[in-house]
Amino acid sequence: MKIVDLTQDGEGIGKTDAFTWFVKDAVPGDVIDASVMKTKKTYGYARLQKVIIQSPDRVKARCPLARACGGCTLQNMNYGAQLTYKRNKVKNNLVRIGGFDESFIEELLGETIGMENPWRYRNKAIVPIGKDKKGKVIAGFYATHSHDIIECEDCLLQPEEFRLIIKENKNADMSHMLLRKGFKTGQIMAYAVENFENNAVLSGKLTNIYGPESIEDYIGDLKFNISPRSFFQVNPVQVEKLYGKAIEFADLKGDEIICDLYCGIGTITLSLARHAKHVYGVEIVEDAIRDAKKNAELNGITNATFYVGKAEEVLPEWNAEVANQNPRVDLIVVDPPRKGCDIVCLETMLKIKPGKIVYVSCDSATLARDLKILCAGGYELTKAQPVDMFPQTTHVETVCLLSKVK
Ligand code: SAH
Repeated sequence: MKIVDLTQDGEGIGKTDAFTWFVKDAVPGDVIDASVMKTKKTYGYARLQKVIIQSPDRVKARCPLARACGGCTLQNMNYGAQLTYKRNKVKNNLVRIGGFDESFIEELLGETIGMENPWRYRNKAIVPIGKDKKGKVIAGFYATHSHDIIECEDCLLQPEEFRLIIKENKNADMSHMLLRKGFKTGQIMAYAVENFENNAVLSGKLTNIYGPESIEDYIGDLKFNISPRSFFQVNPVQVEKLYGKAIEFADLKGDEIICDLYCGIGTITLSLARHAKHVYGVEIVEDAIRDAKKNAELNGITNATFYVGKAEEVLPEWNAEVANQNPRVDLIVVDPPRKGCDIVCLETMLKIKPGKIVYVSCDSATLARDLKILCAGGYELTKAQPVDMFPQTTHVETVCLLSKVK
């Protein structure tokens, strides 16, 4: 069977007669031998047995454990092909779910912005620690759908230094080790994790076992304090390109009033504050807002105000209040989690009617759904740019600019 395409999750797609097959680890362009695992009426799942003719895009996975781990589903595809795949994924969602015209998107959508070196880009790792059958303490990752640990001390997406720290500090008392590195400062901290509940590893007891208790890092020239539990973008190199695009799309003159929804620890908010009159950040996690305020102070930024709450609740209240004093909001930025924006949030944005909306998305399916609503409500999609924040995986971030139709 020849592999002709990839699913959104990175499985190869092949066809035989009336059947469509999904094959993990197969690359478009491969001709393969596969064995049937499971069939439904018109499609089925097959296991890759042998690659008979290699796709020109196929490369040897660098990590010997890539197949067992399942974290890097695209490792056996060359990086250029990964970037093309990600652009296609965004395009297909905008056309199929967003209802945009295909030739319009083809023209509008930029090529995926990639990394010069798409390895060892993560600044954070949470490594499970356990024992093998002989009782030796091992660190690694969970095998797919299980809590069996496969030994691996050097993940190729993590900084090289983590390997030695894991090797020298792991012991049977910890359930996980948490490691974080500031890429620009070079600071590294590691914590032992104990007694966490379910899968919420960071709700456990943390003990500092290496380096300082908190570290600092920069995004652009903004400094951020990172404590073990705080959220911070995991690819610090690409995040600058992502925010750079958001700032470029916003095209600020300096007198704008901006609202940044789903602001986390204020990374986008503070990046925009320098170019605007005032920025309002909204975020549901209280600790993140505490960090955001500290970060504003750390950088001497005084024109940012932060609110704790759900975007869909804070925005309507805020609008009612602000509409009296200052009727003008020039730009709304949103960077929601994978499920996208709440409908009330979108409807309130349409009531506020900012001149521009910048939508930063980590899931192009919900992005497409939300853009359809905003475009039906008086906006047009004017720019769209995929950015590769997670090389070797199927994830892709997209920044979009929407302009109010005159
Ligand atoms: N813009 C930030 C964080 C983006 S991640 C950054 O780039 O660092 C999305 C954020 O949305 C998370 O911090 C999450 O806690 C927050 N969030 C999730 N649901 C929300 C809601 N309904 N209202 C406001 N914030 C929410």
